[in-house]
Amino acid sequence: MAAVGDQPLFGADLATLMSEIHEAAGRGDFRSGLSLCDLAEPRAAAAGDAVGQARVLRERARLLTWSGDLEQAIAACEDGRELLREHDADEIWCELAIAQAFALTGLGLGEEAMELLTSARTIAQALRHRELLFWVHNRTGFAYDSFGEHESARDLLKYALSFSDAVDKQGRWSILTNLVNNAMSLVPELRGAGREDEAAGVLAESLEHAAEAVTYCEIQDRCYELCLSLGNLGAIQQLSGAAEQALATLEKSHELAVKHDYRPLQMSARQHMPAALLDQGRLDDAIELLTDVLAESVELGELLVQVDVLEELAALYERNGELRKALACFRSFHDAEKQLRHGRASTRARLLAHQAQLEQARNEAADALARNERLLQDKQALLEQTATLERHAQTDALTGLANRRYLDLALPAMHQQAHSQKSSLWIALLDLDHFKQVNDSLGHPSGDRVLVRIAELLRAVCRPDDLIARYGGEEFLVAMLDVDTDTAWRICERLRRRVQDEEWSTIAPGLTVTVSIGLSPDVHDTYTEAVYAADRQLYRAKDSGRNQIASETARPAIAPAGWLNERPEIQEASEPADPKR
Ligand code: GH3
Ligand code: MG
Ligand code: MG
Repeated sequence: MAAVGDQPLFGADLATLMSEIHEAAGRGDFRSGLSLCDLAEPRAAAAGDAVGQARVLRERARLLTWSGDLEQAIAACEDGRELLREHDADEIWCELAIAQAFALTGLGLGEEAMELLTSARTIAQALRHRELLFWVHNRTGFAYDSFGEHESARDLLKYALSFSDAVDKQGRWSILTNLVNNAMSLVPELRGAGREDEAAGVLAESLEHAAEAVTYCEIQDRCYELCLSLGNLGAIQQLSGAAEQALATLEKSHELAVKHDYRPLQMSARQHMPAALLDQGRLDDAIELLTDVLAESVELGELLVQVDVLEELAALYERNGELRKALACFRSFHDAEKQLRHGRASTRARLLAHQAQLEQARNEAADALARNERLLQDKQALLEQTATLERHAQTDALTGLANRRYLDLALPAMHQQAHSQKSSLWIALLDLDHFKQVNDSLGHPSGDRVLVRIAELLRAVCRPDDLIARYGGEEFLVAMLDVDTDTAWRICERLRRRVQDEEWSTIAPGLTVTVSIGLSPDVHDTYTEAVYAADRQLYRAKDSGRNQIASETARPAIAPAGWLNERPEIQEASEPADPKR
């Protein structure tokens, strides 16, 4: 087994288990095979390997079918197909459907089997998969036989036989066996219809098929299949009129079945003997044997056999003139048939209940998924809403700049950062000059447009890391981290100029706007003191005639040529929704 360190690789582990399951099935050791399935299935499930799990279920279904637990086999196939719903695994789906159909036919539920086989055939044809085509036609023929449609069944089985190069020897044995079984019903039917020649043709073929099946089992040393094939060969020999040979073959089959304790096969070998005895004119022996077989079938609960045997027995009693016994057999025959019908009805009901359970589980899973999806969507919407609310709570609605609230959160942090990193922080407070007059003469909406334009100019002139906020009605604050006196002054002067030179006539003809600016370095213990200092400088600027900058720091004495026209680290476009801008 492949391993990484001490940890077995799961894939290899499952593959090993699968080959062990195959081996057990090949040996006819159904019990070990099923125990291995019990191990393999939860491992595939735990690894989330739905296709692997379905493969295990297919093996489980086969083992269950051969050990006679047809209902469980059907449930396993159903579970496997359910697992494959969301997967592209047509081949394994087909195999499951075919295995399920076989078990359904065995339970007398041929209609259900046909439905599955029709779907499986469409897929097998689309895949051009000869092996699947072989099995699908083989099982369809088997289902037709169960309906009593023996001629159509034979056509299908022979069609399947034409694909038998695609399957292993066991597959060929299966089709030969089904053809022989078909002949056992078809020959009497053809004879009954006076079609002797056709019956003889079928018989000749079937003798060959039955003999080939027996030889295969002898070579392969497959005991169970040999026992079954001998029983079939004996039945065909009887139909061909070779009564003595038939009895010898059936006896061989019976002996083997007794030796290996195959109870149903013991019964089936003996079930074919009375016809050969009758051919030899031994009516009493035939009745005696059939009576034994009947008792055995009652003991084993083999209703199908009971029905057949009772019908034959009634006919034999009638032929022997024992009318009372014949009548009793007919009555029992009808009772047994009724029981068989009831049994099928309740099996059908149980299978439907299983399907309903699967459907309910599927619906619940889909509901849970939808609920989860809705919850996730709700959560996402809530997060987005909260983010929007937070953004709104910190943004000035008119200008899109940070508002006072945001400023009260951000400024202490900038103050703290400047102090701890021993870098500079400058505060500039801007106030529009005579703004009341703008409102009074042009109206409030025009005043608003001026405020919006001022915000745009601020964004354009300031650096990306500067904090720009609407401080009050027509007052703005700019906080600049890590700038020297020159740059702080330069930014403020540039602002003042831009406002003064702006084309305000687009808002109202003849409109002019100016700003006064108070500029102050944060050399204080608290940021509020720094803001007060800037405010005091703003008053100074107003008092000194407006449209100017005032600061306790001296205006740089030697200004580089044209510095006022330069745009120090300007960002042209910016995101209005970002409250820092
Ligand atoms: P000063 O030069 O001394 O600052 O004179 P001023 O007229 O600008 O000063 P004052 O404080 O007397 O007036 C400020 C005006 O700003 C008053 C108010 O109507 C206006 N204002 C404040 N907020 C808004 C606003 O959101 N929109 C508009 N259109 N006007 C506003
Ligand atoms: Mg003001
Ligand atoms: Mg003002």
